[in-house]
Amino acid sequence: MEHRIGIMGGTFDPIHHGHLLTAEYVRDACGLTKILFIPAANSPFKLEKKVAPASDRLAMTRLAIADNPYFEASDIEMCRQGVSYTSDTIDELHCLLGQQAEFFFITGADAINDLPSWHEAEHLLASCHFIAATRQGTKLDMVHLRKAFGALCECHIHQLTTPELEISSTEIRERIHSGRSVRYMLPAAVADYIKKEGLYR
Ligand code: ATP
Ligand code: MG
Repeated sequence: MEHRIGIMGGTFDPIHHGHLLTAEYVRDACGLTKILFIPAANSPFKLEKKVAPASDRLAMTRLAIADNPYFEASDIEMCRQGVSYTSDTIDELHCLLGQQAEFFFITGADAINDLPSWHEAEHLLASCHFIAATRQGTKLDMVHLRKAFGALCECHIHQLTTPELEISSTEIRERIHSGRSVRYMLPAAVADYIKKEGLYR
Protein backbone atom coordinates (compact mmCIF):
# COMPACT_ATOMS: atom_id res chain seq x y z
CA MET A 1 0.00 0.00 0.00
CA GLU A 2 2.94 2.23 0.47
CA HIS A 3 3.61 3.04 -3.13
CA ARG A 4 0.32 4.01 -4.80
CA ILE A 5 1.20 7.39 -6.17
CA GLY A 6 -1.16 9.70 -8.03
CA ILE A 7 0.25 11.98 -10.70
CA MET A 8 -1.33 15.27 -11.72
CA GLY A 9 0.47 16.43 -14.81
CA GLY A 10 -0.31 19.69 -16.51
CA THR A 11 0.88 23.10 -17.46
CA PHE A 12 -0.55 24.63 -14.27
CA ASP A 13 -0.53 28.09 -15.86
CA PRO A 14 -1.83 28.75 -13.23
CA ILE A 15 -2.92 25.86 -10.97
CA HIS A 16 -6.56 26.26 -9.82
CA HIS A 17 -9.23 24.70 -7.63
CA GLY A 18 -10.37 22.33 -10.41
CA HIS A 19 -6.94 20.65 -10.30
CA LEU A 20 -6.85 20.56 -6.50
CA LEU A 21 -10.38 19.23 -6.01
CA THR A 22 -9.87 16.47 -8.58
CA ALA A 23 -6.53 15.41 -7.08
CA GLU A 24 -7.89 15.20 -3.54
CA TYR A 25 -11.07 13.44 -4.64
CA VAL A 26 -9.11 10.79 -6.57
CA ARG A 27 -6.59 10.37 -3.75
CA ASP A 28 -9.37 9.58 -1.32
CA ALA A 29 -11.43 7.40 -3.68
CA CYS A 30 -8.48 5.32 -4.90
CA GLY A 31 -6.56 5.06 -1.63
CA LEU A 32 -3.46 6.77 -2.97
CA THR A 33 -0.61 7.48 -0.58
CA LYS A 34 0.30 10.77 -2.19
CA ILE A 35 -0.23 12.96 -5.22
CA LEU A 36 2.68 14.35 -7.19
CA PHE A 37 1.95 17.58 -9.06
CA ILE A 38 4.31 17.74 -12.02
CA PRO A 39 4.32 20.99 -14.02
CA ALA A 40 5.38 20.28 -17.60
CA ALA A 41 8.39 22.18 -18.91
CA ASN A 42 7.46 21.75 -22.58
CA SER A 43 4.10 20.05 -22.92
CA PRO A 44 3.79 18.20 -26.26
CA PHE A 45 0.28 19.67 -26.48
CA LYS A 46 1.35 23.28 -25.99
CA LEU A 47 4.59 23.59 -27.95
CA GLU A 48 3.28 26.54 -29.99
CA LYS A 49 1.76 28.35 -27.03
CA LYS A 50 3.32 30.97 -24.82
CA VAL A 51 3.25 29.91 -21.19
CA ALA A 52 4.52 31.50 -17.98
CA PRO A 53 8.11 30.61 -16.97
CA ALA A 54 8.40 27.11 -15.51
CA SER A 55 9.86 28.53 -12.29
CA ASP A 56 6.70 30.63 -11.73
CA ARG A 57 4.40 27.69 -12.50
CA LEU A 58 6.31 25.52 -10.03
CA ALA A 59 6.26 28.26 -7.37
CA MET A 60 2.48 28.68 -7.76
CA THR A 61 2.00 24.91 -7.57
CA ARG A 62 4.02 24.79 -4.34
CA LEU A 63 1.92 27.60 -2.82
CA ALA A 64 -1.34 25.91 -3.83
CA ILE A 65 -0.54 22.56 -2.26
CA ALA A 66 1.38 23.72 0.82
CA ASP A 67 -1.42 22.92 3.27
CA ASN A 68 -2.09 19.36 2.07
CA PRO A 69 0.29 16.78 3.56
CA TYR A 70 -0.59 14.29 0.80
CA PHE A 71 0.38 16.67 -2.01
CA GLU A 72 3.90 17.14 -3.32
CA ALA A 73 5.31 19.20 -6.21
CA SER A 74 7.94 17.70 -8.47
CA ASP A 75 10.37 19.51 -10.77
CA ILE A 76 11.23 16.28 -12.58
CA GLU A 77 9.95 17.50 -15.98
CA MET A 78 11.45 20.94 -15.53
CA CYS A 79 14.87 19.41 -14.94
CA ARG A 80 14.71 17.51 -18.22
CA GLN A 81 15.60 19.01 -21.59
CA GLY A 82 13.27 18.81 -24.56
CA VAL A 83 9.61 17.87 -24.81
CA SER A 84 8.02 16.69 -21.53
CA TYR A 85 6.70 13.26 -22.42
CA THR A 86 4.71 11.48 -19.70
CA SER A 87 6.29 8.20 -20.74
CA ASP A 88 9.79 9.51 -19.89
CA THR A 89 8.49 10.91 -16.60
CA ILE A 90 7.02 7.59 -15.49
CA ASP A 91 10.24 5.76 -16.46
CA GLU A 92 12.27 8.27 -14.44
CA LEU A 93 9.94 7.97 -11.43
CA HIS A 94 10.23 4.18 -11.53
CA CYS A 95 14.03 4.54 -11.45
CA LEU A 96 13.86 7.00 -8.56
CA LEU A 97 11.21 5.29 -6.42
CA GLY A 98 11.67 1.65 -7.37
CA GLN A 99 10.00 -0.61 -9.91
CA GLN A 100 7.43 -1.72 -7.30
CA ALA A 101 5.95 1.80 -7.08
CA GLU A 102 2.51 2.01 -8.73
CA PHE A 103 1.61 5.21 -10.53
CA PHE A 104 -1.89 6.50 -11.25
CA PHE A 105 -1.95 9.25 -13.82
CA ILE A 106 -5.01 11.43 -13.29
CA THR A 107 -6.60 13.13 -16.26
CA GLY A 108 -9.88 13.88 -18.02
CA ALA A 109 -11.73 11.31 -20.17
CA ASP A 110 -11.15 13.33 -23.36
CA ALA A 111 -7.41 13.13 -22.83
CA ILE A 112 -7.60 9.37 -22.29
CA ASN A 113 -9.57 8.87 -25.49
CA ASP A 114 -6.56 10.49 -27.23
CA LEU A 115 -4.07 8.31 -25.38
CA PRO A 116 -3.32 6.06 -28.40
CA SER A 117 -1.67 9.08 -30.07
CA TRP A 118 0.58 9.90 -27.09
CA HIS A 119 4.35 9.36 -27.29
CA GLU A 120 5.20 5.68 -26.58
CA ALA A 121 1.55 5.09 -25.69
CA GLU A 122 1.74 1.32 -25.28
CA HIS A 123 4.82 1.43 -23.08
CA LEU A 124 3.25 4.23 -21.06
CA LEU A 125 0.00 2.34 -20.45
CA ALA A 126 1.98 -0.75 -19.47
CA SER A 127 3.97 1.25 -16.91
CA CYS A 128 1.19 3.13 -15.14
CA HIS A 129 -2.53 3.25 -14.46
CA PHE A 130 -4.78 5.97 -15.82
CA ILE A 131 -7.64 7.42 -13.82
CA ALA A 132 -10.18 9.03 -16.13
CA ALA A 133 -11.76 11.59 -13.84
CA THR A 134 -15.05 12.49 -15.42
CA ARG A 135 -18.31 14.10 -14.76
CA GLN A 136 -21.31 11.79 -14.99
CA GLY A 137 -22.11 11.41 -18.66
CA THR A 138 -18.63 11.80 -20.16
CA LYS A 139 -17.71 8.47 -21.64
CA LEU A 140 -14.49 6.66 -22.33
CA ASP A 141 -14.36 5.34 -25.88
CA MET A 142 -13.57 1.76 -24.87
CA VAL A 143 -13.99 0.38 -28.39
CA HIS A 144 -11.31 2.73 -29.68
CA LEU A 145 -9.05 2.10 -26.66
CA ARG A 146 -9.41 -1.67 -26.88
CA LYS A 147 -8.49 -1.54 -30.56
CA ALA A 148 -5.32 0.36 -29.70
CA PHE A 149 -4.26 -1.39 -26.50
CA GLY A 150 -6.11 -4.71 -26.29
CA ALA A 151 -6.59 -6.26 -22.84
CA LEU A 152 -4.19 -3.81 -21.20
CA CYS A 153 -6.83 -1.10 -21.16
CA GLU A 154 -9.22 -3.20 -19.03
CA CYS A 155 -6.78 -3.35 -16.12
CA HIS A 156 -4.88 -0.08 -16.52
CA ILE A 157 -7.61 2.44 -17.39
CA HIS A 158 -10.08 3.24 -14.64
CA GLN A 159 -13.02 5.57 -14.80
CA LEU A 160 -14.03 7.59 -11.77
CA THR A 161 -16.94 9.98 -11.48
CA THR A 162 -15.67 13.18 -9.90
CA PRO A 163 -17.32 16.47 -9.07
CA GLU A 164 -16.22 18.98 -11.67
CA LEU A 165 -15.56 22.67 -11.29
CA GLU A 166 -15.95 24.68 -14.48
CA ILE A 167 -12.61 26.40 -14.11
CA SER A 168 -9.76 26.54 -16.61
CA SER A 169 -6.37 28.20 -16.50
CA THR A 170 -7.24 29.81 -19.83
CA GLU A 171 -10.24 31.56 -18.31
CA ILE A 172 -8.20 32.66 -15.30
CA ARG A 173 -5.49 34.15 -17.55
CA GLU A 174 -8.09 35.95 -19.65
CA ARG A 175 -9.88 37.32 -16.61
CA ILE A 176 -6.66 38.63 -15.08
CA HIS A 177 -5.69 40.17 -18.43
CA SER A 178 -8.96 42.10 -18.52
CA GLY A 179 -8.82 43.07 -14.86
CA ARG A 180 -11.66 40.85 -13.66
CA SER A 181 -11.92 38.92 -10.40
CA VAL A 182 -10.52 35.40 -10.08
CA ARG A 183 -11.30 35.14 -6.39
CA TYR A 184 -12.35 31.59 -5.33
CA MET A 185 -11.21 30.13 -8.66
CA LEU A 186 -7.74 29.46 -7.28
CA PRO A 187 -6.03 29.60 -3.87
CA ALA A 188 -5.55 33.11 -2.47
CA ALA A 189 -1.79 32.53 -2.12
CA VAL A 190 -1.58 31.82 -5.86
CA ALA A 191 -3.64 34.91 -6.70
CA ASP A 192 -1.31 36.99 -4.51
CA TYR A 193 1.75 35.55 -6.26
CA ILE A 194 0.29 36.37 -9.69
CA LYS A 195 -0.36 39.92 -8.59
CA LYS A 196 3.07 40.38 -7.02
CA GLU A 197 4.87 39.01 -10.08
CA GLY A 198 2.60 40.78 -12.55
CA LEU A 199 1.76 37.57 -14.44
CA TYR A 200 -0.91 37.37 -17.17
CA ARG A 201 -1.37 41.12 -17.44
P1 ATP B 1 -5.53 25.51 -19.95
O1 ATP B 1 -6.84 26.21 -19.96
O2 ATP B 1 -4.34 26.40 -20.03
O3 ATP B 1 -5.46 24.35 -20.91
P2 ATP B 1 -6.30 23.79 -17.76
O4 ATP B 1 -7.19 24.47 -16.79
O5 ATP B 1 -6.93 22.86 -18.74
O6 ATP B 1 -5.38 24.86 -18.47
P3 ATP B 1 -4.01 22.10 -17.48
O7 ATP B 1 -2.76 22.51 -16.78
O8 ATP B 1 -4.02 22.10 -18.96
O9 ATP B 1 -5.19 23.04 -16.93
O10 ATP B 1 -4.54 20.71 -16.96
C1 ATP B 1 -3.85 19.80 -16.15
C2 ATP B 1 -4.74 18.62 -15.84
O11 ATP B 1 -5.87 19.04 -15.07
C3 ATP B 1 -5.35 17.94 -17.08
O12 ATP B 1 -5.35 16.53 -16.84
C4 ATP B 1 -6.77 18.46 -17.14
O13 ATP B 1 -7.65 17.52 -17.71
C5 ATP B 1 -7.09 18.67 -15.67
N1 ATP B 1 -8.05 19.77 -15.44
C6 ATP B 1 -8.04 21.00 -15.97
N2 ATP B 1 -9.08 21.74 -15.52
C7 ATP B 1 -9.76 20.95 -14.67
C8 ATP B 1 -10.95 21.14 -13.87
N3 ATP B 1 -11.64 22.29 -13.88
N4 ATP B 1 -11.37 20.11 -13.12
C9 ATP B 1 -10.68 18.94 -13.13
N5 ATP B 1 -9.57 18.69 -13.83
C10 ATP B 1 -9.10 19.69 -14.60
MG1 MG C 1 -6.06 22.21 -20.56
